[in-house]
Amino acid sequence: MLKGFTHARLSCGCRLSFREGVEGSPVTVVLERKAPGCPHTFHVESLPLFDHREALRPSTRLGPPEAGEFEEEG
Ligand SMILES: [Zn+2]
Repeated sequence: MLKGFTHARLSCGCRLSFREGVEGSPVTVVLERKAPGCPHTFHVESLPLFDHREALRPSTRLGPPEAGEFEEEG
């Protein structure tokens, strides 16, 4: 899910860290280091940021099998 990268830098200078998330939120994005010149008040060091684009996308994970779909015959 993380595709091999674990960090990113935002245009404001903040450094992000990607971690494995929980069911329904595959990746947790944590603001690892707040940039001194960052103008965003919602960028708080060491707190998680949530990627809302991820949430708007349909899930690419396999869900639980639908009832009956994988039942074996007799
Ligand atoms: Zn920032």
